[in-house]
Amino acid sequence: MKYVDEFRDGTLAGNIAANIAREADTRRSYRLMEFCGGHTHAISRYGLADLLPPSVRMIHGPGCPVCVLPIGRVDQAIRLALEHDVILCTYADTLRVPASHNLSLMRAKSSGADIRMVYSTQDALKIARAYPDREVVFFAIGFETTTPPTAVAVKQAAVEGLRNFSILCNHVLTPPAMHAILDVKTTGAAQGGVGLNGFIGPAHVSILIGSKPYEVFAGDYRKPVVIAGFEPLDVMHAILMLIRQVNEGRAEVENEFTRAVTREGNPKAQAIVAEVFELREMFEWRGLGSLSGSALKLRPSFAAFDAELKFKIDYVAVPDNKACECAAILRGEKRPQECRIFGKVCTPENPIGSCMVSSEGACAAHYSYGRFREAS
Ligand code: SF4
Repeated sequence: MKYVDEFRDGTLAGNIAANIAREADTRRSYRLMEFCGGHTHAISRYGLADLLPPSVRMIHGPGCPVCVLPIGRVDQAIRLALEHDVILCTYADTLRVPASHNLSLMRAKSSGADIRMVYSTQDALKIARAYPDREVVFFAIGFETTTPPTAVAVKQAAVEGLRNFSILCNHVLTPPAMHAILDVKTTGAAQGGVGLNGFIGPAHVSILIGSKPYEVFAGDYRKPVVIAGFEPLDVMHAILMLIRQVNEGRAEVENEFTRAVTREGNPKAQAIVAEVFELREMFEWRGLGSLSGSALKLRPSFAAFDAELKFKIDYVAVPDNKACECAAILRGEKRPQECRIFGKVCTPENPIGSCMVSSEGACAAHYSYGRFREAS
């Protein structure tokens, strides 16, 4: 398949691995964070960590939309479905995120709540049209990639006068999370001060926002960023590019994913997002805490479609399960196997924390592709 097979070529991967082994200085260590869960999945699925020399360590970042959603946000969605009798529409992974009182959206559904899995915001609109006497809420989550379709749906609902449609908005932004990762107040000196040598920048997010927003990390923080596609050769090539930057003392934003990403991104998508959304003052992330200007809410002109206002549901922060290390994993401080319930009590079939839910979550990716190797 074009643009897929040629980026999965084993011989080429071996060649890049040989270059990495030759160019990585054995006297230093390279701590490289792949921000995005898509890259975490690719690294685990294709065994890329096994192709790297010991001096190169990949650190999983917080770029998995389901993983960074705190329990309190899932609780809000459950309250909407159970107490306000809405039809709650959501993407599949969100259904299994553990919430308070031993609930999840899936468990709430099995106890009678009208919760429906959808593939797109358009599906949610269809449901709203089909049930004019019911309130329909779309549980909107995700980074910059999934925000434009939500904006389109809200605009469409406004044009059609679909007053029974609203969204529970949890869209978050990548650059503030990267700032938080580099902020010693969030992650301690181990990461922010000296520990992280560079980032693999997200693929799909960067198609939307472009490479420009990462320039601050290269400029102010002196951390190289290489934006990469999600195929294994993309990731391997990005690692090599980062190692070269580190070796040469450069801190630049480089774009490995030139087949899709430009410096400016997608201006049409950016315009529609800016028309519908504005920055939230504060938003709590799992693992990163409350970050200002890190998430979106609907503009006052679209307030009629804001489920938080419509149903007056406040956000209540809830601590994670005490045994769960998701927060430390999302900050890049721990690895999945350092959680003592990884693979024992917590599995993809029975997730205790959010990192075990989505295939982009570090724990789920590691469980699916890495645990047997480690056991042996
Ligand atoms: S294994 Fe489960 S409980 Fe442990 S950190 Fe991962 S998701 Fe959280």
